[in-house]
Amino acid sequence: MVVAEVVELTGQLAENYDVVVVGGGAAGLNGALMLARARRSVAVIDAGEPRNAPAAAAHGLLGRDGMSPAELLERGRAEVRGYGGDVISGEVLAVNRADGGFSVLLADGRSTRARRLLVTTGLVDELPEVPGLRERWGRDVLHCPYCHGWEVRDGAIGVLATGPMSVHQALLFRQWSADVVFFAGTASPLDEQDVRKLIARGIRVVPGEVAAIEVTGDRLTGVRLADGTVVAREAVAVASRMVARAGFLADLGLRPQEHPSGMGEHFPADAGGRTAVPGVWVAGNVTDLAAQVGGAAAAGAAAAGQINADLVAEEVDRAVAGPFSPESESRICELVAGDRRHGL
Ligand SMILES: Cc1cc2nc3c(=O)[nH]c(=O)nc-3n(C[C@H](O)[C@H](O)[C@H](O)COP(=O)(O)OP(=O)(O)OC[C@H]3O[C@@H](n4cnc5c(N)ncnc54)[C@H](O)[C@@H]3O)c2cc1C
Repeated sequence: MVVAEVVELTGQLAENYDVVVVGGGAAGLNGALMLARARRSVAVIDAGEPRNAPAAAAHGLLGRDGMSPAELLERGRAEVRGYGGDVISGEVLAVNRADGGFSVLLADGRSTRARRLLVTTGLVDELPEVPGLRERWGRDVLHCPYCHGWEVRDGAIGVLATGPMSVHQALLFRQWSADVVFFAGTASPLDEQDVRKLIARGIRVVPGEVAAIEVTGDRLTGVRLADGTVVAREAVAVASRMVARAGFLADLGLRPQEHPSGMGEHFPADAGGRTAVPGVWVAGNVTDLAAQVGGAAAAGAAAAGQINADLVAEEVDRAVAGPFSPESESRICELVAGDRRHGL
């Protein structure tokens, strides 16, 4: 069982915010940073369990490659607070419509209100029930070659077949090492074309049920098959089923949907993160299962821009509805007449 360190964040929750961001990973914090810099009142409510917590370092992130996930988020929280945003420990249990916005209820009984919601709660990686696999997740049990491939380059890598993407995963890891073994398992037989691809790239195919991951000291050392054979390996790659975690959105009518890739479930949204429910945006892994840290952060920032524009539009509409002072009315007439004289 991986025990991620849960960071306790202090801070008082106010009664009302322009925006409540649910989830304080890369997507949520970058969204909150943009909103706080746009002079919006914003709270990030975070349960403190980012997806990559088991990993020692975040890789492939320009300017921050190799930084620990915990340090990256600590810097992000400090940046949000530096512009007056609140970053608060807590788990959001329920959100409901209230006064044209939303009420937000936390598991510890606290509550607040928001005009808009940005949901960035990430996903859960569901792993096959192989003894030893979960304990090594993010260390020497891997899923993403772009995150960890360099660290295991030229090593003895095993790929566990879990679904239709597993052959693709093995072919990708072959880019980092010539010593890749594909553990075909027993679930579904390989088709001839896939076998040809694996063999053509020098990937050894081992049939049979995988019984356990072998660990010696604090290192993965092999894959044990049901017949007792142990194939020595230094790292194992496995594709998780990725399931977006935002069950509390069901009260607003938003439910996760099967991702078209077959890789899991997500909350669909448009390119800017807008969902089918007015006032609710999503960003990061909760909607984009494939987003890495940089992509999640960028999506959070983009959604924040959309939310601020939406709030600006609402405020302009309210202001235009008036009433205007007599001075403002006469100034409007003057300007409109002037524009007509100038043919505008
Ligand atoms: C083992 C591993 C290693 C990885 N390594 C890399 C890497 O090297 N480079 C890279 O770019 N990407 C890496 N990734 C991918 C990376 O983890 C994701 O891209 C990133 O975490 C997505 O950010 P996010 O903000 O969408 O979600 P998350 O980072 O998962 O953050 C979501 C936050 O929301 C909180 N939350 C959830 N539900 C609630 C709730 N109801 N109320 C309040 N808070 C809630 C969670 O506790 C969490 O803190 C790795 C992933 C894994 C699994």
